[in-house]
Amino acid sequence: MPPAPVSPAAERLYARDRVVAGVEKLRFFPLALESGQGSWLVEAGGRRLLDLSATWTACGLGHGHPAVREALLRAASAPPGAGALSAVHEDAVALAEDLLDLTPGSGDRRVYFGHAGSDANDVAIRSAVHATGRPTVLAFEHSYHGGIGIAMKASGVHVDAGSVARDQHVRFTPYPDPYRAPERYEDVLAQLEEALAGGDVACLLVEPILSDGGLVVPPDGFLAEVAARCSAAGTLLVCDEVKVGLGRPGTWHAFEHDGITPDIVTFGKSLGAGVPISAAVGPAGVLDEPAASALLTQAGNPYSTAVARAVLATMKAEGLVERAADAGDRLREGLRQATEHLDVVGDVRGRGLAVGVDLVTDRGNRDRAPDLAARAVYRVWELGGVVFYVGGNVLEVTPPLVITDAEVDRAVELLAQGIQEAADGKVSDAQIAPYAGW
Ligand code: PMP
Repeated sequence: MPPAPVSPAAERLYARDRVVAGVEKLRFFPLALESGQGSWLVEAGGRRLLDLSATWTACGLGHGHPAVREALLRAASAPPGAGALSAVHEDAVALAEDLLDLTPGSGDRRVYFGHAGSDANDVAIRSAVHATGRPTVLAFEHSYHGGIGIAMKASGVHVDAGSVARDQHVRFTPYPDPYRAPERYEDVLAQLEEALAGGDVACLLVEPILSDGGLVVPPDGFLAEVAARCSAAGTLLVCDEVKVGLGRPGTWHAFEHDGITPDIVTFGKSLGAGVPISAAVGPAGVLDEPAASALLTQAGNPYSTAVARAVLATMKAEGLVERAADAGDRLREGLRQATEHLDVVGDVRGRGLAVGVDLVTDRGNRDRAPDLAARAVYRVWELGGVVFYVGGNVLEVTPPLVITDAEVDRAVELLAQGIQEAADGKVSDAQIAPYAGW
């Protein structure tokens, strides 16, 4: 039997429902956290949970990393006190240089600093519209690019859910689906070409791996096809690396897999290891436009930039990009073996430590099993892990990049057992009832 999940300390945190707005997204199970260390989170009351959702906890480096603490202390001990004057202190300038070094591109380029993936994408889109003089934004169906402004309106998942009104200037085109509809790939490319044909599209946003839409890895070469079509149409290609980029796919950038050079690249989440910071890297002629010059007061602030520099330096020093590749191979292989006998596991896919487990009603029909996904994440939490689902039925397994082999093996056990026991009816309707519907 797993330990009793709900402690008096956790009860205290459930008060969030009465005082914090918009928390329903995280209601997969009654999560209440106290601290974290490495790949582990500590639940209120002291139970340890393996973090298999570091794209949500935004911490590729692992929790409580000394490099983050030191960077924050250094910045706090002698703060240059620069808010909107983001480029007047060393950490902002050095971080911009680091990001330019890290990101392929040519010519005169700039780095825009924001607070969240959402505002980096928002600025990228508005700058592209301004620079090209074209009115239209193109994005993929089931995409996620942000929760504010035009980035939200260019997010297929938000538009589908009705959380934002459709914008007349935003269009959507299908993303490939190698698991459920491989035969439609040519049609996906044809529709993309058609969407770009009018010459009115300022930019196309793409997630190199569709994440919130269901951890879909497109066919090899897809991004090269996309880049070629954008280039022919005079449309700027914006690669959104916010969730699965920055080392997680086993390369610094997810788009490297197809060897492309996007016009604009956006970063967020794990760049700040929990401290708010995001960035858009792109041509000076685009990012120096007025859309990006409306600086947010604390963008590029000394604390966030100090931490982001430390994150990049630590990733290099600890070889975390290579680690993500190796650990990811072990994780996918382990999951495939451990779930081979489970007919409800239709597909285990991913790249590096961005892994999706597609739950189905049976392997033959590949029908999505959202009810099982809700029960499985609940059961995994009861057993001692934190994992969420995306696209309705896909467990998104994205541990911190520092995960050890032994922890990968534990993750495999937890997930296989959690899925099996959820399928066997160990999670009751009453348990998951409050958490339905993501
Ligand atoms: N882009 C992608 C691909 C994302 O997954 C997200 C967040 N889920 C965002 C952008 C927005 O990032 P943030 O929540 O930091 O604004």
